[in-house]
Amino acid sequence: MSDLTEETLAVLGKNPETAKVYHLTFAFYRAQQDEIKRIRKSRMLHFSNVKLFAFPLIKNLDFSIDKEHFLYFKKTADLLMQLEPVIANQIRKKKEMSYSKFKAASELFLKENMIDEPDQILLFLLNKTYRPMLILFRKRYGYRISSNVKENYRSNLCPVCGATADVGYLNTSGARMLVCSRCDMQWRYTRGGCSICRADKPEDIEIYLKDDKRIYRCKRCSGLLPVVDMREKIGDFNPIVERANLSILRIEDR
Ligand SMILES: [Zn+2]
Ligand SMILES: [Zn+2]
Repeated sequence: MSDLTEETLAVLGKNPETAKVYHLTFAFYRAQQDEIKRIRKSRMLHFSNVKLFAFPLIKNLDFSIDKEHFLYFKKTADLLMQLEPVIANQIRKKKEMSYSKFKAASELFLKENMIDEPDQILLFLLNKTYRPMLILFRKRYGYRISSNVKENYRSNLCPVCGATADVGYLNTSGARMLVCSRCDMQWRYTRGGCSICRADKPEDIEIYLKDDKRIYRCKRCSGLLPVVDMREKIGDFNPIVERANLSILRIEDR
């Protein structure tokens, strides 16, 4: 579902406002394909000890982080430098980090869902670096979580990888679904609460509406969650297209 098809590209390319997002999305998508092939071929994701009821599923699993990941990290940094020349120097600094530092940062990122210090560039690069692996992991194990367990899952963190959602949608029955920023897992969350700090009082949340899209803004943590209303739409939520569409939505558009 989240594969980038010709049709998806046509949708993204049509709207001039999405041009930059489209180029970024497509450039990273192309770069990702070889990494996906490599991971598919490896035995990297064959775990015998995944507990399908203990979340996030990746907790306590040992992902083998290797030099190939490091090379892909550097490739991702090169790509980001081309796309964002204004911050190329800061990106280059990340690209030049040592392998041992990269490994330590990766372990923290994958196991504890965090990095040492607030560093948006490093976070972005690690996110892109491990996205292929986490998406494949989610495809392999995420669907094995029983629907009973899924029904009762109430956390704001992804049951597969433990990350927060960056977008969401209202499904045909009006439930608010969150979509993981790392592995695209989808899970149900309360309709009104904040998916970042878990504030749950209606007065904590402001909702801005524009056509079939809305932004939930939390007054406590200032967190934003863009959401698509799919109640009247035909077809499934496509994370690639909808992320691009939502990224150009601003609160001023309300
Ligand atoms: Zn996830
Ligand atoms: Zn919040």
